[in-house]
Amino acid sequence: MHMHAYRLHAGDMPRSWYNIVPDLPKPMDPPLDPRTKQPLLDPAPLLRLFPKALVEQEMSGAREVPIPQAVLELYAKYRPTPLFRARRLEEALDTPAHIYYKYEGVSPTGSHKPNTAIAQAYYNAQEGVHTLVTETGAGQWGSALALACRLLGLETRVYMVRISYHQKPLRRVVMEAYGAQVYASPSDRTEFGRQLYGSDSPGSLGIAISEAIEDVLADPGAKYALGSVLNHVLLHQSVIGLEALKQMEMAGEAPTILVGAVGGGSNFAGLVFPFLGESLRTLNRSYRIIAVEPESCPSLTKGAYRYDFGDTAGLTPLLKMHTLGHDFIPPRIHAGGLRYHGMAPLISHLYDLGYIEARAYPQQAVFEAGEFFARTEGIIPAPEAAHAVKAVIDLAVEARHTGTRPVILFNLCGHGLLDLQAYDDYHQGRLTE
Ligand SMILES: *Cc1c(COP(=O)(O)O)cnc(C)c1O
Repeated sequence: MHMHAYRLHAGDMPRSWYNIVPDLPKPMDPPLDPRTKQPLLDPAPLLRLFPKALVEQEMSGAREVPIPQAVLELYAKYRPTPLFRARRLEEALDTPAHIYYKYEGVSPTGSHKPNTAIAQAYYNAQEGVHTLVTETGAGQWGSALALACRLLGLETRVYMVRISYHQKPLRRVVMEAYGAQVYASPSDRTEFGRQLYGSDSPGSLGIAISEAIEDVLADPGAKYALGSVLNHVLLHQSVIGLEALKQMEMAGEAPTILVGAVGGGSNFAGLVFPFLGESLRTLNRSYRIIAVEPESCPSLTKGAYRYDFGDTAGLTPLLKMHTLGHDFIPPRIHAGGLRYHGMAPLISHLYDLGYIEARAYPQQAVFEAGEFFARTEGIIPAPEAAHAVKAVIDLAVEARHTGTRPVILFNLCGHGLLDLQAYDDYHQGRLTE
C-alpha cells in the first residue's frame, strides 16, 4: 500500500555536508577587499567576524565536509525530515505531474534555518566565542540562531528589521523565550543605526546586518552569524538535498524539475545542489531547476550581476552576485518574506551559467497558492515557501495542457503558523501589489 510518505531513520542522516564548489563547470569570481578592490586573499578581516572553522568552510574546495558528532546529535531532534508525495494536490489540480515535497517545517522553529544555526553555534562554541550577533527579517533566522545558541551555551543578540519587529511580535517572543536580546533596527545601539534611528525608516536586512557587524566589532567576545547567502551556509543546508536524494530513491522516481523559493538562496541550494552536483559530475541526468522570488524583491529576475556589499553601510567584503543594490529597501506592503537585496554568489553564478531559471510572482497569487496547498495537503506554508508552491501549481497546470508528465520536487522550507497575520491580511484584502 502506498502511503506517499518517505521517512529515513536517524541512522540514515548524511555524515558529511556536500560542497558544490569542486563540481562547478567554471570557477567563481572571488570576494574582493572593499578598500583595494583586489581579491580578498588574507582571511584576517573575516576571522574577526567568523570562527576559523567557518572561514575555512567558506573558502573550501573539498566536496565533502564531515558533520561533527555533536551537530548530528542536535540535528537528530528533528532530522531526517520527511518527504511527501502531494497526491491530494495533484488530484485537485487534475495534473499528470507527480509532485513531491521535502518538509523542513518540522524543526523546532518551523523552518530549515536550524540546519546552519546549529552548525554555526557549534563552531563558535568550540572556539570560545561568548555571544553571537545577527540580523533577522521576519524572525525565522533570529529564532533559529537563538535556539542553537541556547543549546550550545552561547548568548544571542538580534537586530530585527523594524517593520517586522512591529508587525511580527510573536517571532520576537520566540527569540526571547530562548533567551535572546532582540532590538528593532535601525536601533540607537550603533553609530550606523543612530543615523537612521529617529527617522521613520522601516529598516531592512542590509541595515540590520550593518548594525550587527558594528556591534561585533565593538565586543571582543562576540562573533557574527549570517543565515543565508554565504558558501558555508549553503553547505550546511545540503543535508536537505542529501536526504531527498535517498527519499526519491525510496519513492522509485527521479525528479525532472526542482523548485525552491529564494531569499538569499539557502533553502533552495540546500535542496538543489546535491542533485545538480551529481548531474554535473556524471553528466547522465539533467534537471530543470527553478528559483522563485517575489516580484517586489526580484534580485535574480531584475537585479544586476555585479560586485556589491552584503550590507547597507558597506562593511562586508564585495561579493559577485545578482543584486538590487545594497541600499535597497523593500516596499512596506510586502508580506511574503524573501526581502534580501542580493542572491548567494553560488546561485548567482549557476544562474549566470544557465543551470538555473528564475520566476517572480506577485504576493496575492502567492498567498492564494499557499492557501490552496493548505486545503489540499494540510500544511499552511510559510509565505516564503508559498512562492515555491505557486510555481509548482503553475508547472502542474502547464503539464496538463502540454501532456507532459514531469516529476516535480520542491522544498516546503517552513510552515506558516507564525505568519497568520499575513494570511489574514490576504483574506481582508490588505495585500496590494
Ligand atoms: C529565511 C527563510 C527563507 C529565505 O531564505 P533562503 O536563504 O533563501 O532560504 C525562505 N523560507 C523560509 C521558511 C525562511 O525561514
